[in-house]
Amino acid sequence: TAGPGVGVVGADVRIPLVTGERATYANFDYAASAPCLTAVREVLDAALPYYASVHRGAGYHSQVSTDAYEQARRSVARFVGARHNDAVVFVRGTTDALNLLARSVPRDCTVVVFSAEHHASLLPWQHRGSRAGQVIRLPLPHSPSAAVAAAREALRTAPEGPRLLCVTGASNVTGEIWPIEELTAVAHTAGARIVVDAAQLVPHRAFSLAATGADYVAFSGHKLYAPFGAGVLAGRTDWLQAATPYLAGGGATGSVTEHDVRWNDLPARHEAGSPNVLGAVALAAACDVLTEAGQERLHAREQALLGRLRAGLAETEGVRDLALWDADHPRVGIVSFVVDGLPADLVAAALSAEYGIGVRDGLFCAHLLTRHLLPEGHDQAVRASLGLGTTEEHVDRLVEAVARLAAQGPGWEYREDDGRVVP
Ligand code: PMP
Repeated sequence: TAGPGVGVVGADVRIPLVTGERATYANFDYAASAPCLTAVREVLDAALPYYASVHRGAGYHSQVSTDAYEQARRSVARFVGARHNDAVVFVRGTTDALNLLARSVPRDCTVVVFSAEHHASLLPWQHRGSRAGQVIRLPLPHSPSAAVAAAREALRTAPEGPRLLCVTGASNVTGEIWPIEELTAVAHTAGARIVVDAAQLVPHRAFSLAATGADYVAFSGHKLYAPFGAGVLAGRTDWLQAATPYLAGGGATGSVTEHDVRWNDLPARHEAGSPNVLGAVALAAACDVLTEAGQERLHAREQALLGRLRAGLAETEGVRDLALWDADHPRVGIVSFVVDGLPADLVAAALSAEYGIGVRDGLFCAHLLTRHLLPEGHDQAVRASLGLGTTEEHVDRLVEAVARLAAQGPGWEYREDDGRVVP
């Protein structure tokens, strides 16, 4: 595996196959949710005895939990290279973060967004409660430089007033890394801001608000080797501080009278309700572990595995991988592909039942991009995504399994409705 300190929980779990054998689970679904790091589990174990509601109680446990929660915020700030006056708001995940931002931009803010986005960054701007005005949706750019040019032109011709460019750091469909520095420069030159959906970027690469100059970043703990339920919106304070909280309730309020509500300052302003202290602590522990392990080293290891997987799939007849840009454009450990003659759900079901390999199939909550990339004759794709528990054996097993499926089809009959093997 990736080495000491960065092991994942459940790496040696053996699962039953339809063949009657058992196999270690080859998890290729990190882009959906990554397994918990063993080091994160240890931090959670240590926090559990003290787990109490934060910012509310005078008891010892509440004090310990409050300290842990605020320490978690500082860890996250470090992890995303926050500037000294940036806010770090704990939310439920990337979807929540971007919906919060959509409700916090200045009224009638123009939002520029690429059609390549995950639905979490494509849709909040036009959804109920969003304060955005015009939403300019840019077509899929045929190259990174075309993306930069399209953003520049859209921002140049956008209505006067506040403007926000929303881009993904790394695509959850192709793994392709977007030119964030260039897009940030373009946004700032136009007097606009930029938010980076880093859900798929930060589990694989270091990201820094200060270094890139980006205004906001959003990501999810459950894709970063922490359990579900916590995510982050970090960045500039002014819009967030000026906005009415989108969740009204305890914690978000400074004072409430019969006739008036005074909302709290950041970050509590946007953390109404009892905060998810364990979620925040776990997410921050993952941030610390990744930083200490050295994201460069982890990245190099993953790239070697990714190269092995891509080379193996490229040699397999009837298999095509999906890419928006050139084959040598940098990617995180994500490969989506189709197998000619076989529907994606059948491939995914057979990989699981016959080989103990977990992938995802579908359109990956990025329908516009995935549909565009699918070759003729396919309406869905298979996605294999890598992470810290991925091994060469997993990669070789996947390549061999796909080759066998491409050549011979599945060895068992699968029910159409749920993709399970027919007994
Ligand atoms: N953006 C991207 C690029 C994603 O991959 C995902 C999750 N698939 C999200 C946003 C949404 O994250 P969450 O479901 O944790 O809110």
